[in-house]
Amino acid sequence: MDWKAEVGKLPDIQACDREIDRLRAERRDLAAGGALAELTKRAADIEARLLRLRVEREAVVRQQRLDDLARQSEEAEKKRLTDTLYSGTVRSPRDLEGLQKNIAGSDERIGALETRVLEAMERDEALTGRIAEMERALARDKAELSERRGQARARIAEIDAALSGLEPRRQGLAEAVAGPVLREYERIRSRAAGIGAAVVAGGSCGACGVALPPLVLSRLARGEALLTCEHCGRILVGGG
Ligand SMILES: [Zn+2]
Repeated sequence: MDWKAEVGKLPDIQACDREIDRLRAERRDLAAGGALAELTKRAADIEARLLRLRVEREAVVRQQRLDDLARQSEEAEKKRLTDTLYSGTVRSPRDLEGLQKNIAGSDERIGALETRVLEAMERDEALTGRIAEMERALARDKAELSERRGQARARIAEIDAALSGLEPRRQGLAEAVAGPVLREYERIRSRAAGIGAAVVAGGSCGACGVALPPLVLSRLARGEALLTCEHCGRILVGGG
């Protein structure tokens, strides 16, 4: 077998394989969506907090409505007592005193209810402001997520197009290499970080950089056999 010629075909295959590996790894990362995990989590957190704030605001609004209704009925009661007081029908000082006491009590309750309604209005306003702010933040995050997902999809489509050209090209190159050389290349590649062949440059292994013994270099020049780097195990390709 012309070892030199067969081994000389490996760098092209190696270049193809590196590119295919790189694209497949990038595609896996994009499909897994790891780069968007932080943003996705942030949006989910905001959504959960928004939900709690909306529930809290609904309770505030509901209580405010109830307090306001209670205030209105208290106002009606006060009016009824006041009308009775000035109607001239109650004459006994004790009854008049009792009426005035009840009116004072009614006033106190109205005041307390008014304070509660005002406090609830302030709370409602604060909550409404925070909800609006968080809705804007959520809208921004969702827009960014959707844009970045779109970019990822576009990049995956690009990668698929590149792979659909590279894979048949790689297959064509591999078919042109003698079986034993290709099998050895595949075997080494699978256990050596995806690199099965190393072009020799300046008397050193192109993969690990170790200086090769003169004997290896001369055997390589003669193309006597399939030679591998003693240090990293890659198939050595004569680089001239
Ligand atoms: Zn090496």
